[in-house]
Amino acid sequence: MENKQPEVMIIGSGIAGTVAARRLAEKGKSVLVLERRNHIGGNCYDEKDEHGILIHVYGPHIFHTNDEGVFELFERFTDWHFFPHRVVAQVGDKQLPVPFNLNTLHQVYDKEKADELEKKLIDTYGEGSRVPIMKLRENSDPQIREIAEFVYQNVFLRYTMKQWGQTPEEISPEVTGRVPVLVSYDDRYFQDKYQGVPKEGFTVMLERMLSHENITVRTGVDAKEVLTFTEDGKILFEGTTFEGDVIYTGALDELLDLKYGRLPYRSLDFKFAYYPQDDFQGHAVVNYTVSEDFTRITEFKHLTGQEDVKGTTIVREYPFAYEGKEGQIPYYAIMNEENNGLYRKYADDVAKYKNLHLLGRLAEYKYYNVDVMARRAMDLADEL
Ligand code: UDP
Repeated sequence: MENKQPEVMIIGSGIAGTVAARRLAEKGKSVLVLERRNHIGGNCYDEKDEHGILIHVYGPHIFHTNDEGVFELFERFTDWHFFPHRVVAQVGDKQLPVPFNLNTLHQVYDKEKADELEKKLIDTYGEGSRVPIMKLRENSDPQIREIAEFVYQNVFLRYTMKQWGQTPEEISPEVTGRVPVLVSYDDRYFQDKYQGVPKEGFTVMLERMLSHENITVRTGVDAKEVLTFTEDGKILFEGTTFEGDVIYTGALDELLDLKYGRLPYRSLDFKFAYYPQDDFQGHAVVNYTVSEDFTRITEFKHLTGQEDVKGTTIVREYPFAYEGKEGQIPYYAIMNEENNGLYRKYADDVAKYKNLHLLGRLAEYKYYNVDVMARRAMDLADEL
């Protein structure tokens, strides 16, 4: 492949780029992956810190899926540390299970009242149902409203204000809908069949995925240094017209030099801390839903299952508005009508590049989980 052009070029080596690359390589395509950072893996990148503790450098990622195809693909490249992910919300001196479920209900109210409310929830929504908080709030029954108000005030309002700088009403309902109220005693954060993390970490799994004779990876290369997008719909690679497919997983506004203005994103400041003690909080994740400036604390050893270390490392997440400054990273698209409209303008602009395919959280301006992202990457690769 040295002096020959690759058949497919992939910009970005996160889940989207890596899964697409592997899938295409296995179909016999030669693939060149260009990665701007000096490491692969995108925001799933993990590494050992100075204390030997495996940390998620760009925030906690927990893989969960019911998609057998995605699981089968990943499983070829890693063993797993499976665990049922549980989250609690720190509310005053209480730790309440999140998503709010029937266990939480019984923790919040005395037995008689909780029994009554439980019956009401089951009669109204059915046992095992998942009710988004914004739906629950629309119910006119005073008892349901009381629960809804409690959950809104103690779980969603301040966490969402910190995370998005907006109230739950102002943001897209699909965002708070990710964490519905559960009318069941299942207190896991996700209900998927498979949940856990790759035993040796995401980076190792993704490295193995990229390790294929048809894949070349170049890190530390900004796509814009080697690709030119001409006005008449051509993509040039190092000056020569590139006829193959280009999968772009970066931010679309950046690709077009922000010509219509910046697409809004939320960013995060991760503050890591190491403690010599064995255990910091007893949970993988504690959400701070009514107090503090950070949204949550993740304690990595509870998430990775790592035992061969002394002490423990945690990370606190401080959200802020992304401005595109040096070192800032766009993590979450702020999906709403206005921003989606701006995104559309960019997407319409690049429609003229028939061999360009937009894939991923950034390039599609969407909120994808790891498994959904992998599925989309597999499907796109199959299409090509
Ligand atoms: N959320 C909340 N309180 C919580 C958990 C979630 O208000 O305790 C809201 C908040 O708006 C958050 C969204 O639900 O951004 C989605 O939460 P999720 O845990 O899925 O976010 P992620 O892990 O993707 O950052």
